[in-house]
Amino acid sequence: MHTAVLGSGSKGNSVYIEMEGMHILVDAGIGVRRVMKGLKEIGVTPDMLSAVFLTHEHTDHVKGLGPLLRATEATVYTRPGTLEALPKRKELPEERLEVIHDEMKLGPLTVKAFSTLHDAADPVGYSFYGANSKCTLATDLGFITSSVQSAIDGSDVLVLETNHDPAMLKRGSYPWPLKQRILSNRGHLANEEAAWALVHMKKRPKKLFLAHLSEENNRPELAKETVERVLREQGAASPTMEITVARQNDMDFWCE
Ligand SMILES: [Zn+2]
Ligand SMILES: [Zn+2]
Repeated sequence: MHTAVLGSGSKGNSVYIEMEGMHILVDAGIGVRRVMKGLKEIGVTPDMLSAVFLTHEHTDHVKGLGPLLRATEATVYTRPGTLEALPKRKELPEERLEVIHDEMKLGPLTVKAFSTLHDAADPVGYSFYGANSKCTLATDLGFITSSVQSAIDGSDVLVLETNHDPAMLKRGSYPWPLKQRILSNRGHLANEEAAWALVHMKKRPKKLFLAHLSEENNRPELAKETVERVLREQGAASPTMEITVARQNDMDFWCE
């Protein structure tokens, strides 16, 4: 299994996953040139990409979709509500837009979509299951619901949101309504909330990417320190779990 976070943060998100010979992107919120450059570095050519799964319709997840579909043959899979709400949908090739409900097969993979609390039409995270492996992407979470908690459990690779530090957000420059939105149950996940989700996992991942960090209301070291501290305090620190803070403008790659 290969996982490459091609870019992650409030300005754009895209994650590449290779499992059981399938080559997949989750979200297309960064420029197609950067996607292609990242893929080339790990030996993936555009024609190898077969699917793009969208979590929701916000710009930081879809703004590169049009050019990406022109550069590849990939099919887009997303929830019906997200499809309805997609910006510039008329510019996209309709025959390559498919809906996913709760579960589907993609070649040898099983893909499960799980609902998240976020202020979008029908936002989801995804778990990908191979014969002996599981990879889950869970970002843009206002709150860890019980279904998100059970969806992330047992993942070998987990891409989990650590969006902000609430104290930095509160004293930062964002207007109050935006601060309220981020802090609400339909906004974004704080470092400590992500840490508690990890504490509550029965089986923690081998590889953890901390993702979708706010540039203004978080710092990579703070996100990592907070997660490690809470895990340690709760007796849940795992020496075999490798943690990487995903970056907005650079690729982070993991191979198993
Ligand atoms: Zn969003
Ligand atoms: Zn987002």
